[in-house]
Amino acid sequence: MKAPLQAHMTSIPANLQAVVERIMRACAAAGRAPESVALLAVSKTWPVADIRAAASAGQRQFGESYLQEALPKIGALPDLEWHFIGPLQGNKTRPVAEHFAWVHSVDRLKIAQRLSEQRPPGLAPLQVCLQVNVSGEASKSGCPPDEVVALAQAVAPLPRLGLRGLMAIPAPTTDLELQRRVFARLRQLQEAINQLPGMHLDTLSMGMSDDMEAAIMEGATLVRVGTAIFGRRH
Ligand SMILES: *Cc1c(COP(=O)(O)O)cnc(C)c1O
Repeated sequence: MKAPLQAHMTSIPANLQAVVERIMRACAAAGRAPESVALLAVSKTWPVADIRAAASAGQRQFGESYLQEALPKIGALPDLEWHFIGPLQGNKTRPVAEHFAWVHSVDRLKIAQRLSEQRPPGLAPLQVCLQVNVSGEASKSGCPPDEVVALAQAVAPLPRLGLRGLMAIPAPTTDLELQRRVFARLRQLQEAINQLPGMHLDTLSMGMSDDMEAAIMEGATLVRVGTAIFGRRH
């Protein structure tokens, strides 16, 4: 057991560097500045030791999908920036409001209202993205695309939230053109929202280990990468 665990941890800095290089190449190909794309390291299922290995290599932003798993990790490493990217249930919003800096998976007004009410006054506003279901029936979570403009208008005024942008988890495909079409759809929705008075969404949270190049071509400002940094999840 010991040897593979050790081997895994020592590969994290090199994997991270390889991901940063992929992002830089994709930015160059898209004519974008390399600083225009942030990297969120998705550490779900991986232990604190692995997160420490990535943090020692300079990574600051980490994404988690499961609350029970995330809370002890945040307790162990409170100085990192924690993003909640998993499905959100109404009765689980309080710990999210109390312990995370960002939430990417807000897909209905009720959840946003609860997060705003439950965000502790001593903390900065909770930064949120609206999750959009860009793949239709292939996904259960996410706001339908034709409802996201109205959702953005309802969420923007909530006092303890900062509405930052849109997020999507498209159905997996190896077809680069299809990947790009779906990401372009999310960008167009963001542009439509930004036409409205007072709206300045600056974040497109899209792209994962297998499709970050397509996402960056279509304007991603944050890619959420797990497998390419930490290895395959069991
Ligand atoms: C697990 C997960 C990721 C990371 O996916 P990889 O393919 O491992 O890079 C990104 N976003 C969300 C919402 C996830 O749940």
